[in-house]
Amino acid sequence: MKIDKVVNALTHQFVTNDPLHQLFDAVNAISVQGYDEQRRVIYWNKGSEYLYGYSAQEASGQKLEDLIIPPPMQDAVVSAHTNWLNNDEEIPAAELILQRKNGAQVCVFSSHVMFINQYNIKQMYCIDIDLTDVKKAQGQAVFKEKMLETIFEAIPDLFFLMQEDGTIVDYHASNENNLYVNPDEFIGKRMFAVLPDEIAIKFQVNIALALKQKVMVSFEYELKLPKGTVYFEARINHVPQYEQVMVIVRDITEQHKSDELIRHQAYFDSLTSLPNRFLALDKLSEILKSANEHKVNAAVCFLDLDDFKKINDSLGHEVGDKLLIEAAARLQGTISDSGMVGRLGGDEFIVLLPNLTCAKSALAIIDKLLKNFREPFKIEGRELMVTLSAGIAMYPENGSSASDLLRNADTAMYQAKAFGRNTYSFFAKQMNVVIQRRLAIEEQMSSALERNEFELFYQPQFDVKNKHIIGAEALLRWHNPVLGNVTPDEFIPIAENTGLIVPIGKFVISQALHFLNEWQGSCKHEQKYTMAVNLSPRQFRDEELLRFIQNSLIDADVNPESLEFEITEGVLMSCHTNVVDILTEITALGINLSLDDFGTGYSSLSYLREYPFNVLKIDRSFIDGIVLNKEDFNLVRAIIAMSHSLGLTVVAEGVETKEQHTLLKQLGCDFMQGFYFSKPIPAKQFLDFSMNFDKK
Ligand code: C2E
Ligand code: CA
Ligand code: CA
Repeated sequence: MKIDKVVNALTHQFVTNDPLHQLFDAVNAISVQGYDEQRRVIYWNKGSEYLYGYSAQEASGQKLEDLIIPPPMQDAVVSAHTNWLNNDEEIPAAELILQRKNGAQVCVFSSHVMFINQYNIKQMYCIDIDLTDVKKAQGQAVFKEKMLETIFEAIPDLFFLMQEDGTIVDYHASNENNLYVNPDEFIGKRMFAVLPDEIAIKFQVNIALALKQKVMVSFEYELKLPKGTVYFEARINHVPQYEQVMVIVRDITEQHKSDELIRHQAYFDSLTSLPNRFLALDKLSEILKSANEHKVNAAVCFLDLDDFKKINDSLGHEVGDKLLIEAAARLQGTISDSGMVGRLGGDEFIVLLPNLTCAKSALAIIDKLLKNFREPFKIEGRELMVTLSAGIAMYPENGSSASDLLRNADTAMYQAKAFGRNTYSFFAKQMNVVIQRRLAIEEQMSSALERNEFELFYQPQFDVKNKHIIGAEALLRWHNPVLGNVTPDEFIPIAENTGLIVPIGKFVISQALHFLNEWQGSCKHEQKYTMAVNLSPRQFRDEELLRFIQNSLIDADVNPESLEFEITEGVLMSCHTNVVDILTEITALGINLSLDDFGTGYSSLSYLREYPFNVLKIDRSFIDGIVLNKEDFNLVRAIIAMSHSLGLTVVAEGVETKEQHTLLKQLGCDFMQGFYFSKPIPAKQFLDFSMNFDKK
């Protein structure tokens, strides 16, 4: 009650500006307080009640400093107010932290005025605006900015704010080094001024897209920088209402590298770095498409290294791998821009030749390839000879699809192998017949031994001087109910390829020795016939070979000196390290060794010195030649002389005429065999032949 009275008295005494109070009373959002010279409350509007928590009644008469001024500020407030009263020094408006009734702090913007009423008494009015919400909003804005900064800081991406026309307005980079260009060189500039044209265009197009579709668009580009090519991904997002776009640029070089690596591994051969099967086939489809459009020819060539397996088996995979690498490089070097080389696997390669006018232009390239492969490869100090067999299928003649062409090139390659390797063959329709036949032979041969379809024929060998029979060569025959009679020239190479020659060869050895025993037994005079048996290169890889030969000799009760193995240079060339050992052991057993088909292939007299041969067989082609031309005659004469000087016996094979026999006699050839005397004949017939001959 007492306080009420005081307030009223004060009010009546001091407050004269009532119209103003009425105005303040109506304003709830702003606190207006009036104070007398002793800073006692003389006015307290609704806004003050809300802001500070005191009702007008509670506030009236209380001192400003006791009411809403926090203790640390009280002295300053008192002295400022006093100063104003006495010296007219205004208290400036300011942001202040004041105190509410409940002790909580409140941030206000406080303005002050000083009135002098009609009693000449000064009254201070404070007008306080609550800044709580403003502060909160400000705080949030600052927080957001800080947060964004932290985020930008943590992300290695570059952020560019751009106008729709591509002018760069602002940027953010966690690391200025990532900018590649100085910020003053791009801020305020258009993309075209900063980036190469083609990339600026990309940006322009994608910015337009992002704005039009109101979605984020992304694209990749690359820049050639001093440190190398750097790959980027740009994402463009429009900033609604601002006619601006945010461009986020990420360096994806590392990712690009690993993508590239994965791509490379998927499409390139890891050993030779050549395109692999997948890439080659992709490329082939492309080539065919383009060839069709432009009405040009193309060629698919299958290449296979001859005898690579032997090198791999005998010298080891490391040497084999090195050889493949070198071979790939040689192929690549020869083909260079005229086509594409790929590795299909193993020792198989493919060459694709686009834009050809005719098959002849393909041939020119393939010919160059074959020639380049006739030079030996130098690997680990060794000189290795590896030739190529090539099969070629032409587009469009030999097929319109990639798969047809591949199959036909493969078929042609088999044909090239059959031609004796180190050559090429173009696909011809009838080749499919050849392959079919080959498959049929393989199939039938696999069980031919069990079905007892093999038989040995024998061809007698004679002394050139007196035409006495001195021995025979065992030659294999195959009678098959499905295929009929297949010649050894056809089935022996297949048996070598499949490995079937190993068991078949054992059959031959054992059969021939038993026959020899029978033949020698049938002879009245103590004649020592010899039996020549052919041995294939593949048989030397059979570890049981030597033991088998020994057992067979014992089994058939035949003297080793009566046995002669005929081998071709192919055996010596097979690179099989054991060959010399095996040959030495064979001769150590007392068995004779004969170098067959001398004069064909790589014929080298040095073999005769290096390997323990006893016999040399001059190839049929030279015997044909001695009657026809002087060169062959001279050559055969030289071979015979040379052989004799090395202590070798010389056998002439394929003697078909009397003239040939006469000339061989002149030349001092030791033995001979041929159709002139007898074809190879079955065992029984041979015994009759031998018996009749002996009687003569
Ligand atoms: P090769 O070892 O050079 O055998 C000689 C071939 O010449 C035989 O052909 C024989 O019939 C033939 N021939 C003999 N005299 C004459 C003649 O006066 N004129 C003509 N034009 N030819 C004559 P064949 O029996 O067809 O054997 C072909 C090849 O098959 C043999 O050539 C040999 O390399 C291989 N071969 C035959 N039997 C065996 C065998 O049991 N094992 C192995 N590994 N290869 C064998
Ligand atoms: Ca032979
Ligand atoms: Ca021969």
